[in-house]
Amino acid sequence: MDVTESDARRTLHRVFGYEAFRGEQEAIVDHVVAGGDAVVLMPTGGGKSLCYQIPSLVRSGTGVVVSPLIALMQDQVDALRALGVRAGFINSTQDFDERRSMEAQFVAGELDLLYLAPERLRLDSTLALLSRGEVSVFAIDEAHCVAQWGHDFRPDYLALSVLGERWPDVPRIALTATATAATHEEITRRLGMPDAKHFVASFDRPNIQYRIVPKADPKKQLLSFLEEEHPGDAGIVYCLSRNSTEKTAEYLCRNGIEAVPYHAGLDAGTRAAHQSRFLREEGLVVVATIAFGMGIDKPDVRFVAHLDLPKSVEGYYQETGRAGRDGLPSTAWMAYGLQDVVQQRKLIQGGEGDESFRRRAAAHLDSMLALCETVRCRRAQLLKYFGQEPAQESCGNCDTCLTPPESWDGTVAAQKLLSTVVRLKRERGQKFGAGQIIDILLGRKTAKVIQFDHDQLSVFGIGGELTEAEWRGAVRQLLAQGLIAVEGEYGTLVLTEQSGPVLGGGREVLLRKEAPKPASRSTKGERKAKPQAAAGAELAPEAVPVFEALRAWRGARAKEQGVPAYVIFHDATLREIATVRPDSTSALGGISGLGEKKLATYGEGVLEVLATFGEAGTTAAPAPDPAPASDRPPLESSAPAVVPAARASSAPAVPSAPDGDPEFDWDEEPPEYE
Ligand code: ADP
Ligand code: ZN
Repeated sequence: MDVTESDARRTLHRVFGYEAFRGEQEAIVDHVVAGGDAVVLMPTGGGKSLCYQIPSLVRSGTGVVVSPLIALMQDQVDALRALGVRAGFINSTQDFDERRSMEAQFVAGELDLLYLAPERLRLDSTLALLSRGEVSVFAIDEAHCVAQWGHDFRPDYLALSVLGERWPDVPRIALTATATAATHEEITRRLGMPDAKHFVASFDRPNIQYRIVPKADPKKQLLSFLEEEHPGDAGIVYCLSRNSTEKTAEYLCRNGIEAVPYHAGLDAGTRAAHQSRFLREEGLVVVATIAFGMGIDKPDVRFVAHLDLPKSVEGYYQETGRAGRDGLPSTAWMAYGLQDVVQQRKLIQGGEGDESFRRRAAAHLDSMLALCETVRCRRAQLLKYFGQEPAQESCGNCDTCLTPPESWDGTVAAQKLLSTVVRLKRERGQKFGAGQIIDILLGRKTAKVIQFDHDQLSVFGIGGELTEAEWRGAVRQLLAQGLIAVEGEYGTLVLTEQSGPVLGGGREVLLRKEAPKPASRSTKGERKAKPQAAAGAELAPEAVPVFEALRAWRGARAKEQGVPAYVIFHDATLREIATVRPDSTSALGGISGLGEKKLATYGEGVLEVLATFGEAGTTAAPAPDPAPASDRPPLESSAPAVVPAARASSAPAVPSAPDGDPEFDWDEEPPEYE
């Protein structure tokens, strides 16, 4: 296999300009080049595309890529063409002539790669077309779409098993970032690939910093997170409901951050326009429901923020995985609070589906809550969830590693809280939500407390040793641990089977101390001090103006050609150029990400930009004045976040809703799960 092996590596250098394969890539490429079938599990950003692109280039014929995302095919093909790869697609966005021309190119053997949507591939006419040309490999991207119980299920994927029947000699490679064993098994079975070799890459994404902060005033917290750590950066903010995506996007815009909403309720034109802006502009924030993201391979998404709790660890991992595909430092940030737990539990109880569906949903939620409440390394917990052994027990790049949370003995607090619930039920026949219970514990004579005579209860005022925020944290954690439960439309608190031992003194309760403020500030220094990958190192100050000049040059090229900036060069490539400052075309060829075609197309332009800075290492460069040269204020410039009090305790009562919890400002409409 020596000959093809070096063919593959030569293609990697020549076309893509990369030094070496990453992780499992080489083994996968070798296997497929040699004609074997493969099922590939790799996290988002792991480098799946090369696994089928290189075999397509090395083997004779055209690689046919099945991808569910028509809207992204143009960008994928543009990116490949920029590398000198003969790529094309056939889909409904083309007119008749374009389609005919693409078909002719395929039949004539003039295409290295052809992208098709599954609904087109299954048509007899398409299968007949493919029979008239030569297919080198079938790549089935987003292969988890074949999984019937998964959230991305697409019935057209079920028809893809025909490929193995009609083309038994053409290797097939199915790729996904969805990691569960069940999905893996379903892909193998439904696509009819029993003999495929399975490749499971490490799911670790070391350049992503995971942080989960207590939710107080989520929009404000988000704003200070963005202002302090990601000014001018592109990113995605996930919310559960359509309404809150729109409100949050408006709020960010009002505060000087360019943001657009994205959800399934917007018309197709608006959605497409917002997605296209996200891909093409630098530094746009998309506030979206989970309808946004699959297949978005923008490499420089610097952060993914969650304002609501995702309903499973799988979802969380897939969404956060959209950050930092280019390997540069990125943040996965989430604000999570009591109302998230209450809302999700209610959704499961009141949702559709049979008992086993509800049980599965509850188990997913429990794993997600365990991740939120852990006092240990979040990365280690994530990897273990996906059945992988973390390299270390402490990664040093998540909030619990950077600022280890303290725990405290919450047994007495839990008992006080549970007894309040018990008293209300036994003595009054009432159930209330967390807000009223906490007011009782704190001895607050609110209108609603007086209305119901709750100041007469023996438990009134017994919880003065904790603050309101601490009580809310305690309720949240008890919910997460299943020591208390929520019920009904108003999210009233009720006991569970496990509450008994706590009340009886037979069970200790360990609680995590609530951080007085989000952990963001303490981690900033570490972020700077801790380069992740080679490409992730902070730029030296003298390289910053060079990088910015290159970015501006790249922006102009992208605009001319109507393609996203990353199609010209990734940030990582520009950073390396700005740092190394090559002085000749051949020196430029040594930069990662600069293959033959890009060197020929852009080499001179890059050298011209560099020439304006004089020689590397001299001081001939323009004075490095970061203010005008950079659109990013230095990290340290902003003031620490001030987290406002969670809630005004004197909120007026709602007399007609005895169980209502006025603090929970639910959206009227259901969350969007698509
Ligand atoms: P995935 O499809 O798995 O999410 P991609 O195929 O989009 O990931 O690759 C993620 C990023 O990593 C891309 O920017 C790609 O150019 C880069 N990349 C992939 N393989 C390599 C490699 N061997 N060397 C350098 N960069 C790579
Ligand atoms: Zn960690």
